[in-house]
Amino acid sequence: MKLDRNFPILSLRLKSELVDFAVNLFRQEDPDGKSGINWNKLPRYIQAVSQKYFDNHYHNLHHAIDTTNVLAWMLALPVVRKGFPPLHRIMLMTAALVHDVEHPGKDNNWEINIRSNLATKYDNRAVLENHSAQVALGLLADPELNFLDTLPGFVQDDSRKMLHDAVLATDFARHRDFITILEAKLSGSHDFSDPEFLSLVEFSLLKAADISNPGKVFEQAKKWAECVVKEFWAQGKEEKKRNLPVGMLNDQEKVELHAAQAGFIKMQVMDLFVLLSRLDPGFQEVVDALEHNLGKYNKAAEAIRQRREHTKKVAVNQTATSAP
Ligand SMILES: [Zn+2]
Repeated sequence: MKLDRNFPILSLRLKSELVDFAVNLFRQEDPDGKSGINWNKLPRYIQAVSQKYFDNHYHNLHHAIDTTNVLAWMLALPVVRKGFPPLHRIMLMTAALVHDVEHPGKDNNWEINIRSNLATKYDNRAVLENHSAQVALGLLADPELNFLDTLPGFVQDDSRKMLHDAVLATDFARHRDFITILEAKLSGSHDFSDPEFLSLVEFSLLKAADISNPGKVFEQAKKWAECVVKEFWAQGKEEKKRNLPVGMLNDQEKVELHAAQAGFIKMQVMDLFVLLSRLDPGFQEVVDALEHNLGKYNKAAEAIRQRREHTKKVAVNQTATSAP
């Protein structure tokens, strides 16, 4: 199976197809078993995780497998491949697989605003990321699923911590701080033997894979964007119904998909991939795709804006001419 970050994951309809696809990705990442993990148990773990994703519009098993697939593509880039130890690669892919497990289809702000049990449990901080990490570690505590049980105890502890911290790093609230720290680190020497540098780069790859949809071929990118807005708008409707603050992207009457995607690329996604292209030139193809898609989204957004302006003007003129 050739790694393809544009593979149309959304075309896989059955859960079993998605699980098989994920197992193959992991096998390809560790063909000689150098990671030392228990290969009899990993497929069972993946299967168990798949059962714990909900049927949301976006934060579902498709998104989890897509993130894992894009991450696997990144891990095959030459500089990255040389820098990451085999077990780290497997744990990072596991983090991609589990990072949104039991996501309820509404975001952290919703949890905080409704004062949910999860928000209380995690003191309003990275609520859903903390929850997903706990679910993932909980499954790993089951002896039938613990694919780390062939490793020495201290390596298991480190791997579990890495899994937890990597999932926590996907909290978008800290995205800009993360970019600033990464930029500073990448301006120095790229020393993969420095644990701090290594984990920062590892987490940045996971974060990048998580928000990589806008950098796919346009048709794919747009399909994912449609899934995202469906989920956001469903939350917006609920927020209005309950008189809660409506999230910036959740108001269907105010948010236009093309303009929102252009903004997302410009403000959040592009910077991260430009930085990563300094680490490995292989990331440049994502930067190019983002630029291409940004142009398309901007053009479409402008056409929609002009059409709406025109409709508004016609309506005003009609009112003026029909006035007594
Ligand atoms: Zn995600």
